Amino acid sequence: MSDVLIRKVRRAGRITLSRPAALNALTCAMVQEIDAALRGWIGDPEVELVVIDAEGPRAFCAGGDIAELHGRGVAGDHAFGQDFWRVEYRMNDRIAAFPKPIVSLMQGFTMGGGVGLGCHARHRIVGETSQISMPECAIGLVPDVGGTHLLARAPGRIGVWLGLTGARMGPGDAIFAGFADRFVPEADWPDLIAALEGGDLALPDHAAPEGRLPVLQDEIDRLFAGTLAEIPARLEATDTPLAAEALKAPAAQLAACAGRHAGDPAAARTLGRHPRGARSGISFHLPRAGAGGLPRRDPRGDHRQGPQPPLAARRPGGGAAGGGGVPAGAARAAGADIRGGKQMKIAFIGLGNMGGPMARNLATAGHEVTGFDLAAPAPEGVRAAASAAQAATGAEVVVTMLPNGAILRQVAQEIVPAMTAGAVLCDCSTVDVESARAVAAEAEAAGLGALDAPVSGGVGGAAAGTLTFMVGGSDAAFATVQPLFEIMGQKAVHCGGPGAGQAAKICNNMILGVTMIATCEAFALADKLGLDRQKMFDVVSTSSGYSWSMNAYCPAPGVGPTSPADNGYKPGFAAELMLKDLRLSQQAAEDADADTPMGQLAATLYETFVEAEGGRGRDFSAMLPRFETRGRG
Ligand code: NAD
Repeated sequence: MSDVLIRKVRRAGRITLSRPAALNALTCAMVQEIDAALRGWIGDPEVELVVIDAEGPRAFCAGGDIAELHGRGVAGDHAFGQDFWRVEYRMNDRIAAFPKPIVSLMQGFTMGGGVGLGCHARHRIVGETSQISMPECAIGLVPDVGGTHLLARAPGRIGVWLGLTGARMGPGDAIFAGFADRFVPEADWPDLIAALEGGDLALPDHAAPEGRLPVLQDEIDRLFAGTLAEIPARLEATDTPLAAEALKAPAAQLAACAGRHAGDPAAARTLGRHPRGARSGISFHLPRAGAGGLPRRDPRGDHRQGPQPPLAARRPGGGAAGGGGVPAGAARAAGADIRGGKQMKIAFIGLGNMGGPMARNLATAGHEVTGFDLAAPAPEGVRAAASAAQAATGAEVVVTMLPNGAILRQVAQEIVPAMTAGAVLCDCSTVDVESARAVAAEAEAAGLGALDAPVSGGVGGAAAGTLTFMVGGSDAAFATVQPLFEIMGQKAVHCGGPGAGQAAKICNNMILGVTMIATCEAFALADKLGLDRQKMFDVVSTSSGYSWSMNAYCPAPGVGPTSPADNGYKPGFAAELMLKDLRLSQQAAEDADADTPMGQLAATLYETFVEAEGGRGRDFSAMLPRFETRGRG
């Protein structure tokens, strides 16, 4: 039997955790089921809102199933942990950005992964038994599942206190700290859920039982001010119940160690603002926890066994990473370690809208990144070189992110002679298949590995590290760069030999251009036939005309999930970039003698739109206003 019940009840999507014997701890399978349901409900007109609750009186969800992660980790399956967190964080993000209301009802323990499931919902309800906390620090991890987002927004220094001590909040405090919105007595929850299932979102709001945070806030602000290095001494010098309670918490002990060893790591600040660092830290440590990678909680409760190195600064090979603090330096080290076992020397050529954030993410994960761009500045953490060749010298991987194939060929001529034999040239630009193959041949002739690895996901995906890479090249080169794809993106598909990545990219974008035009002209036709746009969306998004263009990126303002159409068609994905990709597809079709009439017509339409009809600088979905104003003639 499944550990999570997923169903539609009247007008609601319903998710009920049903693993009460394990305090509803989340397994990877549960997370996947929940995320798949949410994905499906985005475009489902029968689902107006989503309700998430859990069986049993003791816990909404006590966190991720660490036993499952630990078991797989000690069995050597470290990829399991990384996959688990990847899907879990994707689910957390989907909940936070969900286009329909989500209501969560959190009784009993709601901890760690439970916070990620319940506390990013739009309407968060607590009851008498609610006990909410982020206890990750107590086991040597950085708060994750977007908990840092919540901690950073708690009033004053409360987020630092909660993060370091793992303190539990009752219902009143959870509302005070911004982890919940409303108190509703738990006896009323069945009626409330029934009303929600009927689509009634008029939520009651009772006075919550008084918490302790309003009284403690001044003291917390004083005790937890400044850097981590300053907090332990202040706690030790303070004789109050709050200070004593904080000193007893194992996390505070860890923080004290981190502070003493790392000087001023700015870890408290980062605790609240560095979810990526958190992910790096936990991904590295947890699967190895049972193998001695983490200091264990002393069963006798005595955690004062003398200072230990900062947790995240430990490396599997022993020795602490030099100079870094808990997340600022240490999570970096962890990030580098988890993804391939070693820090790499990377050159990054082309630091524009896409390349800049991609290079920054590699540096943040702990790699040594040297960058070069003719115009754009090097992002934080990336050392600027004087030329592309200088950046490439001695690098194990050179990543390029350049405007087009001609520039790629020119840059390749500069850097290939400077690269060390055995290094890999990985081009992530979108270029023509011929240029990709020519550059790969040149690199391979010089004893280098070569990959063409164009991306989808846009500037937002580059910044968030959620790009998809479509990769062509040898298995060996792919294996070398895969750990870097994992940092910069959420998925990398090895499509085949040289040029296969670019081939996949242009075929995908040819489909996208064609379906966007088809979607826009169908909306314009529907308008003229007097059909309401929302009704059109409701039908098509669940019928055989559905597509990514309709369901996920609807070109009609105010219809479907939020898209550039709701923002005056500000790109998103600019029409001229779509034109570039369509031209590449037609050039490839020409070279390969493939018949692509729809792609050809799409290229012509986007060309007219961009060059003669004011489409340049607008999102590619602005085809809809173009069609609206036109007749058949
Ligand atoms: P961009 O124009 O912002 O960045 C390109 C950078 O390359 C610029 O900073 C430029 O100064 C630099 N450059 C040009 N010639 C150079 C040279 N000889 N040496 C060093 N640097 C040089 O463009 P972008 O949006 O970052 O796109 C880069 C690539 O990614 C393109 O191929 C694009 O098609 C592809 N892409 C972009 C997106 C997107 O949404 N922007 C999405 C997917 C793919």
